[in-house]
This record gives sequence, C-alpha cells and structure tokens, in this order.
Amino acid sequence: MTAAMVDRTHFERLDRDDPLAHLRRRFSLPPDIVYLDGNSLGPLPSHVPEVVADAVELQWGTDLIKSWNRHGWWSLAAEVGQRIARLIGASPDTVIGGDTTTVAIYKAAWAAARMRPGRRRLVTDTGNFPTDLYALEGVARQAGWEIVATEPGDIADFIDEDTALVALTHVDYRTGRKHDMAALTEAAHRAEALVLWDLCHSVGAMNLDLGEADLAVGCGYKYLNGGPGAPAFVYVHPRHLETVENPIQGWWGHARPFEMETAWSPGKGINRMQVGTQPILSMISLSAALDVFDGVEMTEIRAKSELLTESFIHLVDERLEGFEVVTPRDPRRRGSHVSLQHPEARRIMAALIAEGVVGDVRPPSLLRFGLAPTFVRHVDVWEAVERLRKVMEEESWRRVPAAEGPVT
Ligand SMILES: *Cc1c(COP(=O)(O)O)cnc(C)c1O
Repeated sequence: MTAAMVDRTHFERLDRDDPLAHLRRRFSLPPDIVYLDGNSLGPLPSHVPEVVADAVELQWGTDLIKSWNRHGWWSLAAEVGQRIARLIGASPDTVIGGDTTTVAIYKAAWAAARMRPGRRRLVTDTGNFPTDLYALEGVARQAGWEIVATEPGDIADFIDEDTALVALTHVDYRTGRKHDMAALTEAAHRAEALVLWDLCHSVGAMNLDLGEADLAVGCGYKYLNGGPGAPAFVYVHPRHLETVENPIQGWWGHARPFEMETAWSPGKGINRMQVGTQPILSMISLSAALDVFDGVEMTEIRAKSELLTESFIHLVDERLEGFEVVTPRDPRRRGSHVSLQHPEARRIMAALIAEGVVGDVRPPSLLRFGLAPTFVRHVDVWEAVERLRKVMEEESWRRVPAAEGPVT
C-alpha cells in the first residue's frame, strides 16, 4: 500500500473484491456503528433469533422433556465440538462443547497433571489472560507444581525435564501477539512435557493446525459469535483420548449416564470431558452461529484478517500521531486485533464510541480494535481511523468524564 492509494475509495474497492464480503450480510449489526469488538462479544448472526425462539417455544414449550432426544439436545455438545474441530484443524471426535473457558482450562490442566506425575513445573507467560493464570494457579496448588511465568519470548528456555505442562494463550488478548504454536509445541515435546493452548482469540479468526498439541480450549462468544455466555470447548489429542482423566467427574462424562450407576466410569473418548447439564439454549445459539462458517475456508478468513490488520496499522502510521502500535508488525506474529497505546486510552475510546466506532480498552493504556474477518469491512478500518483522527483533532475526549461501568 502506498500513500497515494490511501483514501476511502481504496477500501471500497477492497470490499468489492472481498471474497468473504457475503458473510457480513449474515449478521444483524446496528446500521450506524462500526463494530470492532467482535473479539470480546461477537455480533448476532441474523438467523439465530429464530432458531433460539423455536427452541424456546416449540422445543422447550411444546415438546418439553422429549426434546432431549427429539431435538438432539443430548448430543449438541458433541455436535458443536465436531463443527469447531474443523475450524481448529482437529480430527473429528476430539472436541466437545461445554462449560466456560476457565472450567475447561481447569479440566485440561488437571488432566495434564495426571498424565505427568512426578513432574513439578508449569510454564506459562506473563501475557496470559488473568483467568487462565488464576485457574492454572489453582491447579498448580493442588498438583504441587511450581509456576514459571516467563516473558512471552523466553518460554522455550524455561521448559525442562521437570516441566509437566506448558500452558499458553495463542494470541495475547492485549497486544495481539501470536505465539508460534508448532515451534512451542515441539519445544514442550522435546522435554516430554505436555502443551495446552488457549484459542480464545484465535478460533474463528484464522486457520489453525493443532498438530501434535496435547490439549486446547477456547470460547464460543468471541469470533464464533455464539452469544453472551456461549459455551466453551475442550480439545484432547487422539493419543490421549482413552486415558485422559477429567477432574470433575459428572454424569455427562459417564460411560452410561442413564444407568444411574453409583460409581463413575469414564465415557468414550472426548465425551468423558463433559461435566453436567449444559445451558442448552446457549448451546443452540452457538451451534446456529457456527453456520456462518459453513463452506468457508479458514485460510481465506486468515487472509482477510491479515489485510484488515495491515491496513489498520498502515493508516495509524500515516494519519495519526501520539499512538504507539503495540501489535507486531509482522503479520505472521499477530492475531486479528490491533492495539494502540495512548496514556488517555480510556477517554479516547469513550469519545470514539460516541462517534460510532466501538472498540474497547485494556490496562494499562491500550485501545483495542478487533478486526473480525467475518463481518468487518475494509471501509470500516478507514472509518475507524478517520473518526479517531476527528476525536484527536477536536479533542472531544477531553470532555469525557473519568467514570466508567464495571465492564470494559
Ligand atoms: C475471553 C477469554 C477467556 C474467558 O474465560 P471464560 O471462563 O469463558 O469467561 C479466557 N481466556 C482467554 C485467553 C480469553 O480471551
């Protein structure tokens, strides 16, 4: 992209040539906003309200308890797992939907502890998402592990023969920095340690290949657009499926749940990673939302994401002053959001939202822009930077009070 090409028509042209442009029409987005927060809460796919209304009125309201069989409620978690497996490059029957990401991390990390008895180290990085660190800390206390939280660039140096598990988030929720999954998985395996990947900021935003990775988790409400509180998922590599242990032994993970046996015995394969009754309405909403990805090549999703993030960074460089791009400039090293550092991040974002561009902020002073390739248009990138320019030129952020709500 050269400076001469930088005007709105350039981005309109990119939208005309975008092979994924049709995906945006599958979403119900308010007409007057540029929504760049799909990495926190994905927008509503247009067909989902009808599917959920049907589930409430006809399935729950009319068919009542028969719905578990008649409408496949019982197998929804597995079905959602199959659909997500394709998106993350996993083989069939290795992924199951359910619970929250935090619970999934707990289950997966504890399963790792049971597979590496005698080892006493857990390696993670300081950029990991807080809930991941909290859950890992809890498992570490129970497993007798020492936690080593390194700088993200130094992970491989800290994996040793005492390391049971390397637990990392693939794409950093703040900076957008993406780990080299294959290289770090290999580094863990060289020391015969296991590896657990959190895919919250990757799944639905790029093509993924879990390869030899042992365990993975991810969430359903960000780039998968499953709705607020949509279930998460857990992945277990096929080589562990017949031995993996779920620390939360519930009846959904039982081999014969309706035999009502008094003793627990693990279900077949990935099924054993389930716990208890799932929020079926949320699972239905997630399952329907995944239709958006039907027939879509994830490599095309990634190609568009790279283009969107590249344009965004380029426009910030060319047209804004006072913002530092903290997201890696090498597209191979970033995910699908771009973060800008500015000491007045919070007030600037509030002023930008008043201009119709919705992103969010993360401490200490980052403005975060999620460029979800499914529904974000190239022209949205232009609009976001232009309106940010306006906010800075007119200094409208100075009129924003410091007060804020509980959710940022
Ligand atoms: C969003 C996110 C979570 C969310 O965890 P929940 O238990 O689903 O609330 C966890 N980890 C990462 C890295 C995330 O981005």
